Amino acid sequence: MEKFILAIDQGTTSCRAILFDHDSKIRQVAQREFTQIFRQPGWVEHDANEIFLTVESVMASCLQNAGVQPDQVAAVGITNQRETTVVWNRETGLPIANAIVWQSRQTAEICDDLRSHGYEDLIRSRTGLRIDPYFSASKIRWILDHTEGGQQMAEEGKLLAGTIDTWLMYRLSGGTAHVTDYSNASRTMLYNIFEKKWDERILALLNIPACMLPEVKDSSGHFADIDATHFFGHSVPIMGVAGDQQAALFGQKCFTPGMAKNTYGTGCFLLMNTGSEPKVSDNGLVTTIAWGYKGEITYALEGSVFVAGSAIQWLRDELKFFAASPESEELALAAKDDSIYVVPAFVGLGAPYWDDRARGAIFGLTRGSDRADLTRATLQSLAYQTKDVLDAMKADAKDDISVLRVDGGASANNYLMQFQSDVLQCQVVRPQNVETTALGAAYLAGLAAGYWQSMEELSADQGADKIYEPVMSPQEAEEKYKGWQKAVEAARFFSR
Ligand code: ADP
Repeated sequence: MEKFILAIDQGTTSCRAILFDHDSKIRQVAQREFTQIFRQPGWVEHDANEIFLTVESVMASCLQNAGVQPDQVAAVGITNQRETTVVWNRETGLPIANAIVWQSRQTAEICDDLRSHGYEDLIRSRTGLRIDPYFSASKIRWILDHTEGGQQMAEEGKLLAGTIDTWLMYRLSGGTAHVTDYSNASRTMLYNIFEKKWDERILALLNIPACMLPEVKDSSGHFADIDATHFFGHSVPIMGVAGDQQAALFGQKCFTPGMAKNTYGTGCFLLMNTGSEPKVSDNGLVTTIAWGYKGEITYALEGSVFVAGSAIQWLRDELKFFAASPESEELALAAKDDSIYVVPAFVGLGAPYWDDRARGAIFGLTRGSDRADLTRATLQSLAYQTKDVLDAMKADAKDDISVLRVDGGASANNYLMQFQSDVLQCQVVRPQNVETTALGAAYLAGLAAGYWQSMEELSADQGADKIYEPVMSPQEAEEKYKGWQKAVEAARFFSR
């Protein structure tokens, strides 16, 4: 009887269940969206119960459509939207409020307050993070503040808190497991990533009782058993858990220090494996836990680019240059002028600049500049911004980048990937299976379940769709990058 690993990919807008076979091939996918709740401008919330029910429904569809019996699932892995926070009643299992989503800015005041008290360095030196509404800590505080008797119930041990992985495992286990993994814990801004424990000082600063928080475990190992009532009469173990970006790093098999992945979506998410030592950033990156495996922690540096694929959407929707994003490739290849720079700082600039005020700009226009030239320059801006972050990573990690592994929607663009390799002067590898997030969760679960034997076994199966090698000379690459740096400087000067 053939066995499989089932990955649950609980994303920001949809839940997916993906069935992987022993060759890491996708055998079936089921996906369903759920409701986004916008009660006020800047707020984003989810109904945690709806998320749970959506997960149950995609698991059922996935198995049914695949014609696979529940006992053919060797183990389940979970990867989830990170930082999104749920608080629920221990006795009833019901959430006491909507889940607050990572993007939501409703806790900005709590963070401003922490900053104004000068806690920036304290938080960074314990959690590796910047103080930001993004992370879970201020979300728990907000929910307790906005629930009648919330603080008291929390102190009496009547409330539990967790990220979405924790919530799902609590529900799927019939309320028996209150657990998370290192990668998710490291995004709460409550977890001391250096001492590997919930940080008492930060909990005290935010007045969050430690008894609300889950037990933190290795990302690969036994987390909980899904109760038979939730898995079609069969109990199956959850053996792998990681936050989405860390799961993608694992799914890209970036197992050794110096290996990095970039996801080209709406924005870019870059993570670099820095090994067993946490590297604190001097260049605007955050330090995070990539995963815990066999009792050992692997750390990562993380940086994000705010505007990447969305700049291509801008060309498509606002400038009406083309009807679909993939057409940008052909246009870029037809461009003649190579001296234009587009700085897509539509919402400011992220790492390593951290400039909220910066706005977009175009440099080097001539009478002949056309949409092909502008499209090429916009695609190039994704590659330059990626180099900005990778250079910061190299400086922080004091390590070189051997290879960049890529995924996400815009990684399908061959022009962009070749140019990325040229600008970085390193190999760029796009895997055959770009579902790296779900694959990462499946690998973590499958390794713990003995479905796969070792990371070496996984690495041996390279499965690259395409490998890009630099064809541009190092001198030319450097010249071009200097032009980009000048353009960024000029754009920032204008917005000052
Ligand atoms: P997200 O998960 O952030 O929604 P995806 O990984 O689905 O993003 O990627 C979608 C983004 O990638 C869009 O912004 C789109 O403009 C861009 N994109 C998709 N295909 C291409 C392509 N062939 N060339 C350039 N950009 C693309």
